Amino acid sequence: MDTPMQKKHEDAQKEGENLQNTKSLINQIQDLETAFQKDGLIKFTAAAKFQAAAAQGQDNVSGVIPPYMLEELAKRNPNVPGFQETLEKTILEPRFWPFPSKDYKGAREVYDAKGEESQPGEKARFEGDKATGNSEIDNAYDFTGQVRSFYKEVLGRNSIDGKGMKFISTVNYGENYENAFWNGKQMTYGKPSANSPFKTFVLLDVCGHEITHGVTEKESHLKYYGQAGALNESLSDIFGELIQQRANKTQAKDADWVVGDGIWKDGIKGRGLRDMLHPGTAYDDPKIGKDPQPAHMKDYIKTTRDKGGVHLNSGIPNRAFALFASSVGGYAWEEPGKIWYAARAQAGSNPSFAQFAYQTIEQAKKLGFEKDVDKLKKAWDEVGVKPSASETDTSTPVKSEEPRSQNGWTPMYNEQINTKKSKPAA
Ligand SMILES: [Zn+2]
Repeated sequence: MDTPMQKKHEDAQKEGENLQNTKSLINQIQDLETAFQKDGLIKFTAAAKFQAAAAQGQDNVSGVIPPYMLEELAKRNPNVPGFQETLEKTILEPRFWPFPSKDYKGAREVYDAKGEESQPGEKARFEGDKATGNSEIDNAYDFTGQVRSFYKEVLGRNSIDGKGMKFISTVNYGENYENAFWNGKQMTYGKPSANSPFKTFVLLDVCGHEITHGVTEKESHLKYYGQAGALNESLSDIFGELIQQRANKTQAKDADWVVGDGIWKDGIKGRGLRDMLHPGTAYDDPKIGKDPQPAHMKDYIKTTRDKGGVHLNSGIPNRAFALFASSVGGYAWEEPGKIWYAARAQAGSNPSFAQFAYQTIEQAKKLGFEKDVDKLKKAWDEVGVKPSASETDTSTPVKSEEPRSQNGWTPMYNEQINTKKSKPAA
């Protein structure tokens, strides 16, 4: 059954496919820029581009460095040219939506954009090709191989879409492009500039995180707002981390539970982007700010920014998973990973934390892990989440015009402009 929103989404998708050059988008941006300046409302920033993208029915891609972090980095590092630019460009990046694919057996294709903003770029290393000696190209190739083998061997899944979709990656994307993203079709990695606090974006758990967004999209159409969105982010963190733990044969008790370890240059006080076991402690440095993630429901961040705090409140379910995996012991991808994978498929498109927690318990029983249900309940209890089949997300503020779409597609609205003057959520 097609809702008007789904119809709009499909039309936008078609348009997005034809809109690679974003020409009409740029015209709209210019119109908006003029309007904003005339009204003297706000200085023209990413907000106008956000609006223009929204007017096109286009969603922004999901980058590994969230918008609030790029804003913070832009403020703190005026000598790094890339942050504001990356923020604006990530927002303009056309977002593609699930499309039918044939079975390419998850073949890998790595391209080199050579500092241009082109996708996919020049052919660099395809399935079966020898190593190139270029670490970004070879890592992108090897890491997607790890992601592919994780989904295939642990979860019996044939690539991202379950139908053997190719794993396409582009490295060295753009000049001063300080992010990595999944656009529905492929992975794209920028390259940090000389003064950037980032060392690289080509990291195994980053690759696993972004590609898992693709799996989540295909699997459950999980909404990208509020608690459902924070679960979407959390699932990407969890599976990105599990893929890395499996590649390194790390047991839960020995895992660091840090997402994006190795992303910061030496001298930056940070272990990574997020700490799943101890949310809010991943980084604290004048150049990058402080990790804002809450670890417990009592500190839940009520905001409409960051899609209702998707990269912020994900700390809460992340910690529940890490606590549960630590209490079960052994390899976290075996029992805990399978429970979370099954729960995602069964939790619907807009679960609250409570409903998702309920599903993990249901799936643990179904999968024959009855013996650990008490540990699971304890883990959720420790982060202040009470499992419930019916309790919806009442913690996230929702704009009245915020549509509750069934397909996970959340159009953009005025939040960036309205909250510009208020204190950033971070
Ligand atoms: Zn993400």
